[in-house]
Amino acid sequence: MKNNSVLVYGSVAYDSIETPFDKAEYILGGSASYAALAVSFFAPANIVAIVGSDFKEDDIRRLSARGVGLEGLEIKDGKQTFFWRGKYHHNFNKRDTLETRLGIMENYEPKIPQSLCNSPYVLLANSGPESQSKVLDAIKNPKFVVLDTMNLWIEIAQKELKDLIKRVDLLILNDSEAQELAGENNTIVCGDILREMGAKSVIIKKGEHGAMLFHESGFFTIASYPVRKLVDPTGAGDSFAGALIGHIAKEDKTDFETIKRAMLAATATASITVESFSCLKLEEEGIEEIKKRENFIREISRI
Ligand code: AMP
Repeated sequence: MKNNSVLVYGSVAYDSIETPFDKAEYILGGSASYAALAVSFFAPANIVAIVGSDFKEDDIRRLSARGVGLEGLEIKDGKQTFFWRGKYHHNFNKRDTLETRLGIMENYEPKIPQSLCNSPYVLLANSGPESQSKVLDAIKNPKFVVLDTMNLWIEIAQKELKDLIKRVDLLILNDSEAQELAGENNTIVCGDILREMGAKSVIIKKGEHGAMLFHESGFFTIASYPVRKLVDPTGAGDSFAGALIGHIAKEDKTDFETIKRAMLAATATASITVESFSCLKLEEEGIEEIKKRENFIREISRI
């Protein structure tokens, strides 16, 4: 049987979020939750993460309803599930982290079930680079590894992050993170610098302005889907990364043209995530809406 499954390592969390127009308390979030749900529309997804005993049955059901493999989800008594509180500024483009409670993730040593050690596709979703690197150590000959990160790690674990970048096929970050890591204001030049750091290819996301791919076979840029009812941008990056590797796994090819098509799937998927809190709209609308938005993006990009 063909194995095109995606191992997703990252956080499974509860978030409390405030936007200029609304707020939500203690909702399912975390980089691995968003990413694995996004993967699930394209290829089999398996999570490696940890939660506390406060993690709700309902949220387990939400993940398993989409077929997400939970063998690698450790549920441990003692401390609470990772918690993050964020607040968005008026234009939604800036957010402040108001609180991060590591809880059960403190000193977490990821355990990768034997059955997942041969995962061909690996998404190291946002989490500390040291633990991301340990997960990668445990995987035998992956076909394609995607790395996502955030400004926190660029600031507090830059050396570990730079070491890890050299081991991945694709690094994904947003424009401000790229500028910080590359030490350069011109985002195009950032892409080149990050590839020189050792990432085989790089995607730099620019929110509602699209995303750019820097690859040995060339440069590519894609427009964002024009979202008019932005509810909560949380998880846009994670679901972009999840859909991207999910699509690559579905095609089971890793060349430049496949990554371009994967960016279309990623852009469409992320645009649905931001139209609700948590992943609710994506879970509700599914692959049909993703396909509709992919077609729309193709249409608006034709000259
Ligand atoms: P994004 O909006 O794509 O950057 O991802 C937001 C998600 O990342 C939220 O659901 C948070 O629970 C999670 N998150 C926030 N900070 C961290 C962190 N330091 N490590 C891992 N996950 C985090």
